[in-house]
Order: sequence, then structure tokens, then C-alpha cells
Amino acid sequence: MTLGRIVTKLNLIAGEWLAGETEIENRNPSDLSDLVGMFAQASADQLEATLDQARVAQAEWAAYGPERKQAVLMNIGNELMSRAEELGTLLAREEGKPLAEGKGEVYRAGQFFTYYAAECLRQIGENADSVRPGVEIDVRREAVGVVAIISPWNFPTATASWKIAPALCYGNAVVWKPANITPASAVALTEIIERQDIPKGLFSLVMGSGRSIGQRLVESPKVNAISFTGSVPVGKGIASAAIQNLTKVQMEMGSKNALAVMDDADLDLAVTLALGGAFGGTGQKCTASSRLVVHAGVHDAFVEKLVAGAQAMKVGHALEDGVQMGPVVSEQQLSENLTYVDLGKSEGAELACGGQRLEMPHDGFYMSPGVFLNTNNDMRINREEMFAPLTSVIKVGSYDEALSVVNATNFGLTSGIVTQSLARATHFRRNARTGVVTVNLPTAGTDYHVPFGGRGDSSYGPREQGKAAAEFYTTVKTAYISAGTPV
Ligand code: NDP
Repeated sequence: MTLGRIVTKLNLIAGEWLAGETEIENRNPSDLSDLVGMFAQASADQLEATLDQARVAQAEWAAYGPERKQAVLMNIGNELMSRAEELGTLLAREEGKPLAEGKGEVYRAGQFFTYYAAECLRQIGENADSVRPGVEIDVRREAVGVVAIISPWNFPTATASWKIAPALCYGNAVVWKPANITPASAVALTEIIERQDIPKGLFSLVMGSGRSIGQRLVESPKVNAISFTGSVPVGKGIASAAIQNLTKVQMEMGSKNALAVMDDADLDLAVTLALGGAFGGTGQKCTASSRLVVHAGVHDAFVEKLVAGAQAMKVGHALEDGVQMGPVVSEQQLSENLTYVDLGKSEGAELACGGQRLEMPHDGFYMSPGVFLNTNNDMRINREEMFAPLTSVIKVGSYDEALSVVNATNFGLTSGIVTQSLARATHFRRNARTGVVTVNLPTAGTDYHVPFGGRGDSSYGPREQGKAAAEFYTTVKTAYISAGTPV
């Protein structure tokens, strides 16, 4: 199907690229006159067909030897890494993150595949002697079956890859519903996967809205496991749909991460970490530093440097040289961000800088990085995930108070401390109630070979990434073996 010279990108259904009943257009949030493309929307019938074929393909894939699976994942990873510039440009264009971040994301996505390529060869079980004489026990992991992957727009390639790579590594079929606002990155990744030596229909792409095709997917009894990243309300809805079929779920959701800056911190380092953590990815990260918990002893000096740093940030078109912060992803997200700015002010916070819609030469969703001062942890701007280039400073009188503020949240994904005291760093590392904790590092930015996930409302189900992913993407089988007759 074509619109002028634009060719509509299709869904991958049961191994075939198919048009949908409808299609949507996708525009560049840095420049709304730039049409990224037209994208097919999968129909309910197509979803059923692809789920059926996925079941057949999964049995075939699970029987592939580990070396054959390893080669598939390695090829995908190598191609992503070698095309990081090209695919990172596409990603930056459709999502709005600066080009360097887009390229970095695609490269990182490749590393998830090469890491799990190696894991294909490391699937080693356990054995034991039974308590019964002459009986041996073999414990091994098997694939769960057909996995639904529902991914968000903020890391459209990396988040999908840290789910798809282990799903395939451990022998599953994948039906992927990406966020409808970032379909171009999804098609690009699917094209790479589809070209590999995999059974027909092992991997499906079902673009469409969350409320229609997404909801159908999570309600389907043909799905064995659902891995989701997104908002808490949608996560809760997915969990209640999944429980009807007793489908396994893994969910990464919002957060309200805090960076604690102590009176013995290197202030320049603290400001660099706070700016990067708060405004990287336009603040649209589940690991963003949205609360800056600052010791009174350095509060004024820290705030002065922080505000100066935020004001100096270059906001602009994601593909322009030197841009440090791109646009917000959508009109809706921008309007929610501006509502939070008004809310913060009405709660009594002082907006020291930013927090405003910006006019640019290109028509897009631009906003200046905003810093709230004189806030307390009871304010809604410090309780709710904003997913905005906004951060709040909370002044505290001691380390103990800082730790208690850091932990006073329903979420629990990441937290960090900036200090030169080993005693405080150690105490914080052991007592911060988050799944990830950092010392003299940003709250955002994690590795791919170790577990990732949070506590409280941030996560539900087994951890993602590293070897921990096996817990979700496999099921354990315990075999008892007897020779049958005495030797
Ligand atoms: P959502 O939770 O709505 O979307 C995440 C994914 O879930 C998307 O692929 C979406 O599809 C899909 N989805 C939506 N509704 C359903 C449903 N009923 N059944 C199945 N899948 C569904 O997040 P938004 O993109 O709307 O962002 C809203 C807020 O969520 C952000 O402001 C932020 O606070 C939070 N968020 C957190 C993320 C994180 O990394 N933890 C990532 C993204 C958002 P589609 O987009 O096509 O409708």
C-alpha cells in the first residue's frame, strides 16, 4: 500500500508481511512536518492466526540445537551494532532522543542479543541423587512457550531487545506489540529478526493500539507468558487479564527515583549526575532522577550549579549537532508535563527554571528542563511518576533523613547517593529499598549482564536481564530416573 511515495510498513503475521484493516501515520516529534511513515494496524483475526502459528514454530525452535540458536542471536546482535548509526537515526527521528542516545540505544540492543547468544550455550541444569536408592534426578529448564512482549516508546529498541533476546534464547516464540508511537524502530528490528534461520512464525509483529490489539493479546489463552514495560495502571490491567488464564507475567512499571546528595559530595560530580539523570531522554526514563534529596550543608551551592546547568542545556531537534535534550515524545505527554508544572506551583513548590513549552524553528513538542525548589516529599510532584524533564529538590538535615525520604515512595526501581564517605555509601547500598542502587553514579544507566528490576509498584514478577531472565522465560522440570532393574 502506498501514500504518495510513502510505503506502508506491514505487520509480520504467521511469517508473512501483511497489511492491516487500518493504518496510522507516525510523525517526528522534533518536526511535525516530517512524516516518519505509515504503519499497518493488526486485526483481531491476524492476531489469532499468528498466535496459532507461533505455537507450531515454538516447538520447532525449541528443538534447534544450542549452537543454531546461538548463531541466530549473534547475527541479530551483530547487525544491530553494525547499523547503530542508521537505526539510531531512525529511532531519534521517531522518538525524539538526541542522536547520540539513539545510536547508543541501538548498540546496547545489539549487546543484549550477543549476550543471550552466548547464554544459548550455557543452559546447564542440575543433577542430584534421589533420597530413594538407585534413583537419579535431573533438573533442567524448558521454554514457557508463546511469549507476548508489550514494550514502551521511551526505549523502543533496547527494552524490546532485552525481552526478545532472552525469550528466543530460552526457546520461546514471541508475539511483539510495540508502542504505537514508535513503530518504525519496531519494523526495523523485526526485519532483522525475520531474515534469520528461524521457523516460520516464530517471531510476530502486531502493531496496533494497546487498548485494542494489546488488550486482546494479554487476554488470549494462547499466550503462556507476558512481559510488559509501561505505566502502573496498564500493568495492573494486564495482570488482572493474565490471571484469568493463569498466564505468567513480568512487569516493569513507573518509578520515582531519588538521588541523595550528601554534604561531603563532590558537588560538580553531583550536579553532572543530577542533570544527566533528570533530563537524559527528556526525563522520559523509568530510572530518571526525579527527586534530588540534598543535604542542607550543600543545598544552596548545589542548587545554584544545578539551575545554571539546566538553563544552559541545549534543547532542540534530536538530529541537530550539539543538542542535549530533544522534544517530549507526544502532544499528550507534553500537556501532562505542563499540568504537573502547574500542580507543583499550586502545591507551593518554587519553579526555579524551565518547565515551559518552547517555540523552535521546527514545529515540535519542545519543553525546557525544569527544576522545582522548596519541595517536600508529600507533594504529588514527588509522589507520582511525571515522565517529564522536571526534577524536584528536597532539602534534608542529615543522612538519616535523606535515606528515609529516598525510601518514602510507593515505587522502588533505582536510587543513588553521592558521597565520599564509605560508611554512608555502604549503609545506603544496604538500606535503600530499590531494586537498583548506585554510588557516585547516575540513577539511570544499567548494564545488560546483571538483573534489572524494582520493588513496590515499580516491578512485578521475576527480574529482567542477565541470567535472572531465565526465571521468567523458562519453566523448571525435575526428572527422576531409575535404571529399572538392579545391575
Ligand atoms: P502505557 O502503559 O499506556 O503503554 C505501554 C505499552 O502498553 C504500550 O505498548 C501500549 O500500547 C501498551 N498498552 C496500553 N494499554 C494496553 C492494554 N490495555 N493492554 C495491553 N497493552 C497496552 O504507557 P504510555 O505510553 O501511555 O505512557 C504513559 C505513562 O506511562 C508515562 O507518562 C510514564 O509515566 C509511564 N511509562 C513508563 C515506562 C517505563 O519505562 N516504566 C515506559 C512508558 C511509559 P500503545 O502505546 O500502542 O497504546
